[in-house]
Amino acid sequence: MTDHTNADTLRTPIVAVLGHVDHGKTSLLDTIRGSAVSEGEAGAITQHIGATDIPLDTISEMAGELIDPSDFDLPGLLFIDTPGHHSFSTLRARGGALADIAVLVVDVNDGFQPQTEEAIDILRRTGTPFVVAANKVDTTPGWNPQDGQPIQRSLEAQSERAESMLNENLYEIIGQLSDAGFSADLYWRVQDFQKNIGVVPLSALTGEGVPDLLTVLMGLSQRFMKEEMAIDVQGAGEGTVLEVKDERGFGATIDTVVYDGVIRNGDTIVVGGQNEPIVTEVRALLRPRALEEIRTEKKFEKVAEIGAAAGVKIAAPELDQAMAGAPVRVVRDRPLEDVIAEVKAELAEIEVDTAEDG
Ligand code: GDP
Repeated sequence: MTDHTNADTLRTPIVAVLGHVDHGKTSLLDTIRGSAVSEGEAGAITQHIGATDIPLDTISEMAGELIDPSDFDLPGLLFIDTPGHHSFSTLRARGGALADIAVLVVDVNDGFQPQTEEAIDILRRTGTPFVVAANKVDTTPGWNPQDGQPIQRSLEAQSERAESMLNENLYEIIGQLSDAGFSADLYWRVQDFQKNIGVVPLSALTGEGVPDLLTVLMGLSQRFMKEEMAIDVQGAGEGTVLEVKDERGFGATIDTVVYDGVIRNGDTIVVGGQNEPIVTEVRALLRPRALEEIRTEKKFEKVAEIGAAAGVKIAAPELDQAMAGAPVRVVRDRPLEDVIAEVKAELAEIEVDTAEDG
């Protein structure tokens, strides 16, 4: 039994990818997008502003034998494009982290590096559940690549020597996680993902192990985040600014991740600003056009409304003072002063956090 009303729907969990520079964040996101698209179905993924939505059907095709889609009722995963660590720490949602779950990418040869430690600190501080992607397994000497395969399949195809060299590196990372205060193990040995961090060996280059990562993310979200994913799809939209950008024909716009409710064209919104909250009216909600249309048409298409979880570009007057990391709130039928106060309170929290980051 749940205490949610009928209007409640389960939204897509928001996933952030973090890690030291060059450890493979961008490549991993590209591979997830690319192999999803090459599954060939229309609607295999939906490109958002600042994010990519991978529906459960696509994940289950990619994960093959690893996933039984009937075990899940969450609609998929929304990967937000990797912001810098500093901006990640300011990407809040109602005092928590914007991301519901994170992937910490660690180069299996390099192990923990300064930005890995920083990322761990942020994940600890924001209480964000995460998994570790031990990336670049294909660089293990003597590796026999198994493109796109689950990691166990791939391990079966390796020489004993290659496997033991990989294991040495993996246990190094597990040791470093333990030094950082997290008990961790290879993900298939983890019994309780609330107590132990799962480590997924993979290669963003060959795609081996990527099915496992998607499976673990889906499983974690389903088991531990389902309650938080229940939202009122008709509720006043709530989001966080990823970036403020000037856009020809629109002026200053905010790329926003919407994590609750719905934002409609014409809505009055309150946005965190550099000096004070900005009260303005949505002029346009913009999404990227499909790739094949971009060459001839404009970059964006207008939509009438956008519901959580999604990335969208909001065009509205007065947005040039908006700040990355700031809250966005639809006013709808609440008193404007209440919404302004809410935005102010959340901004104050972000400032404390930013100060802590030094
Ligand atoms: P980011 O800075 O974390 O976004 O790292 P990138 O995704 O830009 O990757 C840094 C470099 O590592 C690039 O040259 C990638 O081609 C390479 N790279 C990333 N993932 C892998 C992998 O799984 N295997 C190999 N061999 N190279 C990789």
